Order: sequence, then structure tokens, then C-alpha cells
Amino acid sequence: MTIADNLKDIKSSFHNPTCLLIAVSKTKPIENLLEAYGAGVRDFGENKVQELQAKEPQLPKDIRWHMIGHLQRNKVKYIAPFIYLIHSVDSFKLLKEINKQGEKIDRKISVLLQIHIAEEESKFGFDISELEEMLDSEEFKKLSHVTVKGLMGMATLTSNQDQIRKEFKRLKALFEEIKNKELPDFVQLTELSMGMSSDYQVAQEEGSTMVRIGSSIFGARNYN
Ligand SMILES: *Cc1c(COP(=O)(O)O)cnc(C)c1O
Repeated sequence: MTIADNLKDIKSSFHNPTCLLIAVSKTKPIENLLEAYGAGVRDFGENKVQELQAKEPQLPKDIRWHMIGHLQRNKVKYIAPFIYLIHSVDSFKLLKEINKQGEKIDRKISVLLQIHIAEEESKFGFDISELEEMLDSEEFKKLSHVTVKGLMGMATLTSNQDQIRKEFKRLKALFEEIKNKELPDFVQLTELSMGMSSDYQVAQEEGSTMVRIGSSIFGARNYN
């Protein structure tokens, strides 16, 4: 099976054909990304700043780069000029740093707020109370160089489909709830990033607008 074959199979199994497929290319060589590009993929997801920085200049300029992994504040400046969407904003401090770097280069940077929906302690993200506190704060309303496009979440790593569905349902409900809040103009909640190779169909059934798929396209990774 080639990368193009895998992409075709995945697309044809989509519950929602308008859902955006982000090809998660972390750890994979440039040739693999070019193969996916040749098959029509324009959205690529990476989880490390260093890898993004290395790959971006080597690939076509019409690629939209998605940062999906935990982002350290001191590294925001390296991706600020070219990143298309940062999915993994998991603290107000990080959001403020992205705003600051956007301001420096006069670019509005699009982000998603990562919400902690899994049972595992280890997953990053806002708790619901932290999220509401930030959204209600005066400091939040003053942000000028970010656009908040929606929410992202990762379900618990489990084979229990009911558990996964429950977590996605919770994220979708939160998404709908905050859409009804009175929020500044730079908050335009249209995107719900949920679903990976093992759970993208459930995620789409529960309202995902973008899925982040790696191993089903490129094959298993040796690390990460
Ligand atoms: C690696 C990764 C994915 C893709 O995982 P697969 O199981 O290979 O599809 C999706 N989202 C995030 C945040 C990741 O780090």
C-alpha cells in the first residue's frame, strides 16, 4: 500500500467528507511528505518546532503547517512567521506569548485551545474552569494578534469506543456552550480538531471538523 492508496482509503471512510484531513508527518522523511503532497495533501501536522523549522523550507510554499504538539513558550518565535494553525494552546501564558510574537511581526496567528478531555493525567490542555476563567478575563479581551478558531482535544488512549465517544461528546458540548458566550471578535469558533488514526470516525460522528491522521497514512512510527 502506498501513501496515496492509504489516503484514498481514509478519505473514502470519512463519515463527514467535508472534514479536513491533516496529514501528521512527524518523524517522517521529506520524500514521504512529497508523496502525500503529490496525492493532493496541503495540510501537514508536526509536533516539534525543530522538525517544523527543518521541513518547512524544503517543501512547497502552499503547504499549510499545523503545530499539534506541546509548544514551549520560548520556541513560539521560530514558527510564528509561517505557522498556519497552532492546535495545542494549553495555557493562557502560551497564548499571550503567541500574541506577543504575532505583534512583533505584525501577523495574526490562528490557534485552537487544547482542552483536557482524557482521563489520563498526562495529557495537556485547559480544564473547563481554567478556560472559562481566561475567556472571562479583561486581559484576554486585550489580545490583538491571535485568532481563536476553535478547540482541540485528544481522547484517552483506550480501545473502549464508548469512553472515546463520551469524551468527544463532552468536547463538542463545550464547543457549543462557549460559542454562545459573548466573546471578542478575534474569537471565531468554527473548528473542532479531534480524531486521529484510531478514532477519527467516532470523532467525525461527534462533530469534528479536522482530523489529525499520521500512522494510517505514513505507517507506524519508531518513536514519538
Ligand atoms: C501523533 C499525533 C497524531 C496522529 O497520531 P496517529 O495515531 O499516528 O494518527 C494526532 N494528534 C497529535 C496531537 C499527535 O501528536
